[in-house]
Amino acid sequence: MDTPVRSAESLNLFVNATQQFERALTWVDGIKEGIIDFLINPKRVIHVRFPVNMDDGSTKTFHGFRVLHSDVRGPGKGGIRYHPDVSEAEVMALAAFMTWKTAVVDIPYGGGKGGIVCDPKKLSRRELRHITRRFVSELGEAIGPHTDIPAPDVYTNAQTMAWIYDTYDRMHPGQNNLAVVTGKPLDIGGSLGRNEATARGSWYATEQLLKRKAVPGLDTLEGATVAVQGYGNAGSIAAYLFHDAGAKIVAVSDSRGGIANDEGLDPRKVIEFKEETGSVVGYPGATAISNEDVLVYDCDILIPAALECQVTAAVAANIKAKLIVEDANGPLTAVSDEVLRQKGVVVLPDILANAGGVVVSYFEWVQNLEYQQWSLDKVETMLNDKMCRAVDETVDCFEELQKKYSAGFNEGNPGPTLRDAALVSAIKRIADVVLQRDIWP
Ligand code: NAD
Repeated sequence: MDTPVRSAESLNLFVNATQQFERALTWVDGIKEGIIDFLINPKRVIHVRFPVNMDDGSTKTFHGFRVLHSDVRGPGKGGIRYHPDVSEAEVMALAAFMTWKTAVVDIPYGGGKGGIVCDPKKLSRRELRHITRRFVSELGEAIGPHTDIPAPDVYTNAQTMAWIYDTYDRMHPGQNNLAVVTGKPLDIGGSLGRNEATARGSWYATEQLLKRKAVPGLDTLEGATVAVQGYGNAGSIAAYLFHDAGAKIVAVSDSRGGIANDEGLDPRKVIEFKEETGSVVGYPGATAISNEDVLVYDCDILIPAALECQVTAAVAANIKAKLIVEDANGPLTAVSDEVLRQKGVVVLPDILANAGGVVVSYFEWVQNLEYQQWSLDKVETMLNDKMCRAVDETVDCFEELQKKYSAGFNEGNPGPTLRDAALVSAIKRIADVVLQRDIWP
């Protein structure tokens, strides 16, 4: 029988992260109470406020955050987001996802995340540069190649990372500082393949998941229909990679709305159109639909690649896809997860699906520390290897949890999901290191 959904639905991302974590914990034995608190909450939260002179002669004060969630398995690692709605709770949750993600794909990092409350669409290049440089100087020693390493996220890009590197380099002259930030332009230590890495990783992971026959009624991308919410770095690149693998992109959206065509959209032409006009909306030969219509569009695979908490329980009830590939971080509320499990919709969770970005960031960091530049072929082969291994481990763990559940373990709680399985692997990996390092002093 289906287990009733117990927790109240929240749109606070940290509440959702905690609910996901607590649900996964029901599958793990023997972790001490005091350690659980340490595993879920951030180690450090930094708030900074600083003034910037604007182009119109006015002065504005900006509010930024950097959260180091965990450095148990290595330095903090995670993006910096520029968005008007960035909040402490959001950045805390995104940093926790990074800790779990780096553990799932087994790279030697903890988790971090940062953000500045601002609307980059209304800021000039000069204003963005000044905001970025001042933010980095305010963070001081809180970031560094061996302490906490930023990367791009929503509305930040390789240019933002170049400003971060340049500022940090001026603050620490006479040493190799390239590894302080990843997602940099190629000419200053960026890695081949980093721009495509998040979407490419999600494509590799999806292919492997289908090979493992983990999605009922869907064995191949050939002929599969796909809807994508969000048409930025993660979403638009996923659209053309899935398209190139034989899938048909039937609906996409960005912050201004959605478009659909059951005959299939040409994802690269949609990118060109968005570059020219600023949005996918108005693309010739497609029907205009709303953002929510994209989420519930009749398709085999839904790729949410925009922001968090987009799929609530109410939206989940109308989802038609067989598989959801979470390119965004936290796009599903924890309650919607349970609605989807009960409907038989498989969710490839964010901490696995979009881990390709941080995996290639890790490759970039290694190249920077060793003054190397790897070939694209090497980067893609190693990314494929990491993603396939993590999918296999997660599916193996899921199958084990299913067996235990059938045998009566965890009775009274909901049955396992791939998210539970990925989190169980991550929690075990992190808890093991805590035990091996032992509690200091
Ligand atoms: P981006 O800034 O390149 O693109 C974001 C896209 O989302 C834009 O097209 C924007 O118009 C759209 N969008 C914003 N609000 C929307 C809404 N309400 N409905 C529909 N679309 C909306 O950002 P990105 O780097 O592609 O990040 C997208 C998601 O992927 C985020 O959750 C991010 O944390 C996650 N992610 C990104 C990376 C990466 O390497 N870039 C890595 C892992 C996870």
